Amino acid sequence: MTDFTTFNFKAPIAKALEAEGYTKPTPIQEQAIPLVMEGHDLLGIAQTGTGKTAAFALPILDRLCRGETPRPKRGTRCLVLAPTRELASQIAASFASYGQFLHLSITTVFGGVSVGRQINRLVRGTDILVATPGRLEDLINQRALKLSDVEILVLDEADQMLDMGFIHALKRIVPLVPKDRQTLFFSATMPKTIADLAGDFLNNPKKVSVAPAATTAERVEQHAYFLKAGAKRQMLAHVLKKPDVDRVLVFTRTKHGADKVVKQLAADKVDAAAIHGNKSQSQRERALKAFRDGRSKVLVATDIAARGIDVPGVSHVINFDIPNVPEQYVHRIGRTARAGKSGLAISLVSGEEQYFLRDIERTTGTDVDRVALPTEFAGDAELENVGMAKPKGSSGRGGSGRSRSGGGFKGHGKGQKAGGKPSGRKPGGGQGQKPAHAAGPKSNPKPSNAKRPRTRGKAPRPSAA
Ligand code: AMP
Repeated sequence: MTDFTTFNFKAPIAKALEAEGYTKPTPIQEQAIPLVMEGHDLLGIAQTGTGKTAAFALPILDRLCRGETPRPKRGTRCLVLAPTRELASQIAASFASYGQFLHLSITTVFGGVSVGRQINRLVRGTDILVATPGRLEDLINQRALKLSDVEILVLDEADQMLDMGFIHALKRIVPLVPKDRQTLFFSATMPKTIADLAGDFLNNPKKVSVAPAATTAERVEQHAYFLKAGAKRQMLAHVLKKPDVDRVLVFTRTKHGADKVVKQLAADKVDAAAIHGNKSQSQRERALKAFRDGRSKVLVATDIAARGIDVPGVSHVINFDIPNVPEQYVHRIGRTARAGKSGLAISLVSGEEQYFLRDIERTTGTDVDRVALPTEFAGDAELENVGMAKPKGSSGRGGSGRSRSGGGFKGHGKGQKAGGKPSGRKPGGGQGQKPAHAAGPKSNPKPSNAKRPRTRGKAPRPSAA
């Protein structure tokens, strides 16, 4: 069995790992660390939650602390690019913890805060710079930073950087870094555009891959309520008041939607904060801190703002809106399955969102359990045209069917899980028992407005945070 001693890290790093309580490398660390230490370029397919930050940060710190290379003025020895401020802060915090007994300097730059202080900070140079692409380009254009001393370049969450429109920025930034650099490239998914980009940036890379999308989804118990859009607010408040719900991330598709949910929850006497791109940096940090400290149990977030949020002990993820891109769903529910833990994801599914859910099930190869609406939600809240599996054994009044065990409604006695279908991966790689919607038009008339939304390629992306 591998432990961290096999990597022969310098003593201060080994000491930091002990202080952090890390005893065993995660699979991505086990695979990636030796390759990075040997100086290879790396193409890593891994999501947040797999320990990928340490997989690159530890060997980078080890390399930088060997030798006496000085910090380059207005420059950096290692450049890490990340899509969001949250992820950039998180990565810098990881470098700071693993490097707590070293004397390396770590600097973070991202938009939304004063550029002046960042310029001053960079005059002296830094060992490690963690940056979002937009602000990095600003600083380069203002001649506050040059990249000619970069020895190691990391691109983290490349797929998200592309989704956020950073491709052109990346294509301008990367050529400013010396060619003889070491490049480490991480992405949760590897569609062709990402693979092409990796091909441009990497030199004969070694490939490592862990936890494909479906694996995260498998660890999380997944429930869905089918209900009218107008009933979601009440249903959310209902779920949040359950005693076993203690730290919850609620996802909305838009920034406006996130604010609206927070207001509605306040009216329903549930304390919540929102985190999205229209919030100032200090508002975002305050909201995150309150959530981490346990002062506020509910954080409402858009997909992009939530990227990189690493809060241990998230008991529930609630999809107030269902994403039309299956990978977003996987990222969302992965927030409650950090570092090998399991969790419960609850989706509030209305009208056309049923079809988004179907795509998600196809992509992840998992079944999402249909749960009957609690009694008080029967009637007006129910969807009239359920194109997908209605909870079996449910009159729609919540009075029959199998009692649920485990999960968010323990002791509730009303919300029932649909039909005794085991959750988890479909046998035969997702080709197993079909949800009722797949049985054909006779048994499942499509909703009247059901022009099936396309989710690949042409569908609009959820709006940016
Ligand atoms: P990441 O995928 O980098 O966002 O890491 C997910 C979480 O796992 C973070 O909270 C890390 O602190 C934690 N972590 C990373 N590596 C290890 C390890 N070897 N042992 C225990 N926890 C770890």
